[in-house]
Amino acid sequence: MQLEQLLHIDKNHVWHPYSSANGAMDNWVVKGASGVHLFLETGEKLVDGMSSWWSVIHGYNHSVLNHALIRQTEQMAHVMFGGLTHRPAAKLTELLLKIVPEGLNRVFYCDSGSVAVEVAMKMAIQYWFSKGVTSKSRFATIRNGYHGDTWHAMSVCDPNTGMHHIFNNTLPQQYFLPAPISKFCAGFNNTELEEVEKLLSAEKENIAAFILEPIVQGAGGMRFYHPQYLKKVRQLCNNYDILLIADEIATGFGRTGELFGSNHANISPDIMCLGKAITGGYMSFAATLCTHEIAATISENEPGVFMHGPTFMGNPLACSLAKASIKLLLESNWEQNIRRIENHFLKTLPALSNMSAVQDVRVLGAIGVVEMKENVDIKIVQKKLVQCGVWLRPFGKLIYTMPPYTISNSELNTLTSAMINTIKEVYE
Ligand SMILES: *Cc1c(COP(=O)(O)O)cnc(C)c1O
Repeated sequence: MQLEQLLHIDKNHVWHPYSSANGAMDNWVVKGASGVHLFLETGEKLVDGMSSWWSVIHGYNHSVLNHALIRQTEQMAHVMFGGLTHRPAAKLTELLLKIVPEGLNRVFYCDSGSVAVEVAMKMAIQYWFSKGVTSKSRFATIRNGYHGDTWHAMSVCDPNTGMHHIFNNTLPQQYFLPAPISKFCAGFNNTELEEVEKLLSAEKENIAAFILEPIVQGAGGMRFYHPQYLKKVRQLCNNYDILLIADEIATGFGRTGELFGSNHANISPDIMCLGKAITGGYMSFAATLCTHEIAATISENEPGVFMHGPTFMGNPLACSLAKASIKLLLESNWEQNIRRIENHFLKTLPALSNMSAVQDVRVLGAIGVVEMKENVDIKIVQKKLVQCGVWLRPFGKLIYTMPPYTISNSELNTLTSAMINTIKEVYE
């Protein structure tokens, strides 16, 4: 197929994420990817600063992951999980349970992050149903959150920045608290929790669970908040008999400098969602973990089973990849690597903060964020970045990066120089 024809079909017949069908936005055609590089059909070689939305933590085309995939394909690519089980699922579970926060001990495997969130929310409701409490059917959350694009996941996304406001009238209504204010590494203001406590104590009969992204709020604004906030939310949930759901889909597997965001506050959620980086970016896959107490309560009461079971649940290819990717991570110097990337961002990006068009520059772990005062013109900014040899995907007011952990120092230089030069050229 000629490149022109490919682009014609794409422009006229294919949807892209959060895209218009009016053909005004161009898509770049990628023909391969290796290490931290994307190779375009038009010849450019780009340093990927997005890790394909947090997921490709070891880089593309990794021999260990390729091998795991091929070996498992030859064994069995898929088999139903109802009534059957297999080594890839058992081995992945054994490994996961060694590294997740204490107390989580049962795993529900599913297809994508949004589904993992749906499963978590259903689990919370069914847990209270099993205890004979039917009034606890709503959820509390914080503003600026993002939990996915499916129905109940949408209902706990920020009603404005969460990209779903046109559906607001048809969504279940949840309780929204202000986004945390205290920054990750500044002082903590205890009064922040007053409003949280007020809501939880007043509405405890109606709230099944509190759901939030630990420490880093991702697609809802790329904000980093204080671990003490998370610690206090955990305590308040205990005090008012409300389950805590940690959505670690973006924060999981080392990105923030700890294996999981919850670790910064030394807490264990009752339910935890994993996704994105779980297979090292090879396949769509996710998991919802819960405590023994939740699993037992659901299982020992009518109807005695948890009411969910996707067709591709526990897919062996995904399980094998996830096990291989997590093993690769644990055997690497990931903590040192994250610190190296963090230090590079801290050395380079703050130079932008004295520009008048820049609102804020923030860095945590292998995440670097430049928040502009106005919405970014993606078309102009992205084109410029590609000319500088870098792949980033700005959204809203944010130009941000979370590269593969394997990125070298010189590739990091390419990445941050491109960000700085692009922002200077476009905004100065
Ligand atoms: C990406 C994301 C989701 C949704 O995951 P999908 O795989 O896109 O469905 C949910 N929660 C958080 C925190 C995310 O970053």
